[in-house]
Amino acid sequence: MRKLIALIALIACGTLMAATGASAAEPVKSRANDNLAEAELGARIAAKLAQLRAQQALRMSVAAKAKKTAAATAAATAAATVAAQAPQALPAPALHAPLWSYEGETGPANWARINPDWAVCGSGTRQSPIDIRDGMKLDLEPIVFDYLPSSFTVVDNGHTIEVTLGAGNFMTIMNRRYELQQFHFHRPSEERINGKRFDMSVHLVHRDGAGRQAVVALLLERGMAQNTMQKVWNNLPLEKNEIVKPSTVLDATDLLPLQREYFIYMGSMATPPCSEGVLWMVMKQPVQAAPAQMALFSRLYPYNARPTQPSSGRIIKESN
Ligand SMILES: [Zn+2]
Repeated sequence: MRKLIALIALIACGTLMAATGASAAEPVKSRANDNLAEAELGARIAAKLAQLRAQQALRMSVAAKAKKTAAATAAATAAATVAAQAPQALPAPALHAPLWSYEGETGPANWARINPDWAVCGSGTRQSPIDIRDGMKLDLEPIVFDYLPSSFTVVDNGHTIEVTLGAGNFMTIMNRRYELQQFHFHRPSEERINGKRFDMSVHLVHRDGAGRQAVVALLLERGMAQNTMQKVWNNLPLEKNEIVKPSTVLDATDLLPLQREYFIYMGSMATPPCSEGVLWMVMKQPVQAAPAQMALFSRLYPYNARPTQPSSGRIIKESN
């Protein structure tokens, strides 16, 4: 019996030993596997991290490039906007810009061919001036002129006599406020009313905060001397492109007719580059100037008017 118990115990122990032996060898193998798996996992994580870093670096470089491109585009757009907002009258002919004039080879018929940037002078359908006829007679709101005595400069820019006023002269139409930039003279008038041309005209060129242009045209007929015009003539420069800055002030209100009825239509700058989108208002009542004052201008510019352009079905409105 004792032997049996001992045998059982021995077997049990052997079984146990065998079991233990088996299980004692297993953890070693398992640890080795774990180490291997860990190493593999570590390597995989390192590889994944490197891949992620590389992708991030690529994304950042692409983003930086896009930002750079966007900045360059914005700068170019800003430059183009500034260029588009350049004043209507050329202050002085740029050295590289081909010259234009009112007659001959460099005259209005060839403006579009002189410079590719002036193509719209030939191809545009909203060009100025026009022969104003068949206007829609309406109860138009008055143009609000808010001019005041201002310092001014006078220049002969090679195309006309131009007067630039100090800041603070405004004109409001259709709820838009435009600031007066300059006014200048044409002989004869560029615009016609039912085919009729006037002796001269004055163009008061305005611009609003967004760069939109609005021109008020005054028709001049022979009559009484005009003080404002005389003030300008008294300060005529002796040389082209020379700027005269008188010590006196000028109020553009004095140029305006008493009656303020007007024609209104969409047109263009009437000089190269002939950009369109310019709001034109032509005052119906002509303003008088003395024949001697007109003769004086004609000694400088006997003819500086662009011919009328096709109205191409444009709407013209006029005050009743
Ligand atoms: Zn003009």
